[in-house]
Amino acid sequence: MPEEEKRYDRQSILSQWDEGTQEDLRNSRVIIVGCGALGTNTSATLARAGVGELTIVDRDFVELSNLHRTALFNEADVGRSKASVVQERIEEINSDVRTEALPTDLDPLNAERVLKGHDLILDCTDNLLTRYLLNDFSVKFGTPWIYAAVIETMGMTMNVNPEEGPCFRCLFPERPPSGTLPTCDTAGVINTIPQVISALQSTEAIKYLTGKKVNTGDLLTFDIWARDLSTVRVEKDDECVCCGEEKYQFLDSEVGQTSHSVCGREAVQINPHMEEEINLDELAEKLEGLGSVEARDVLIRFEVENYRITVFKDGRAIIEGTEEEQVARSLYSKYIGN
Ligand SMILES: [Zn+2]
Repeated sequence: MPEEEKRYDRQSILSQWDEGTQEDLRNSRVIIVGCGALGTNTSATLARAGVGELTIVDRDFVELSNLHRTALFNEADVGRSKASVVQERIEEINSDVRTEALPTDLDPLNAERVLKGHDLILDCTDNLLTRYLLNDFSVKFGTPWIYAAVIETMGMTMNVNPEEGPCFRCLFPERPPSGTLPTCDTAGVINTIPQVISALQSTEAIKYLTGKKVNTGDLLTFDIWARDLSTVRVEKDDECVCCGEEKYQFLDSEVGQTSHSVCGREAVQINPHMEEEINLDELAEKLEGLGSVEARDVLIRFEVENYRITVFKDGRAIIEGTEEEQVARSLYSKYIGN
């Protein structure tokens, strides 16, 4: 038996695999946005399954606090670019997979260039802002994506194929104000839930890439601690700003976050451009215990790692300790949430 046949033998003999299935996987181009717990598991699974081409995007570096839940990263990787480490490990797992590592921040300026040319987009990010951006691109160009998210002991996932069903904004029409949602860095995450959600996401990806029937529009939620699985039907909303009115507000930078370095200081300002104000008391409570928090009536100051983050009521934050917008955006996403 030739090497390649041997490698895929245990999946090829499945009744779900027909003659062209492995070939379909080999001819597929997939982009994985985010290399945390979801992205590392999903990229390893798809590489092992024989997906031909994987593009790996992540703006962050491996941290010690990632290791409890991520696949592929080891202690020696701390401080290295997540995207590059994943690329290296995938090449060790399956040298037939063509990989590209993009250690970059997906934003409205680069989104079209980065996402174009892929058959499927996998959301393995940790923030809603990027998901709205993926959704805009998906609806505008007709590329399906698979939403996946984990927090605490919960996970959720939904296949979005704009040609067939509802989009992400049919489900969540407006972006919630920054600071209102918990993040894995403020609320924690159990290390088993990403494996389950990644397994669901990867299975759906394999089905889609090989032309099998794929559900669109069911939001699946699983609480692994309570062993509670539920599915909610999401209907396409004709008045949806994105798939109904065909306005791509996140891709066109009409809404969403901006950042710029502050002149003369080692600091970056992040502006989420929100209509609603942040509840600073709630945010201070969330951050308590993660670093030192000092609350004043119009702002809070939070010191963590070697950074000082000042958050204002309108959601703006000045992040001192870095001049790099990418680093500042990542810190904002972790501790304030967007
Ligand atoms: Zn929609």
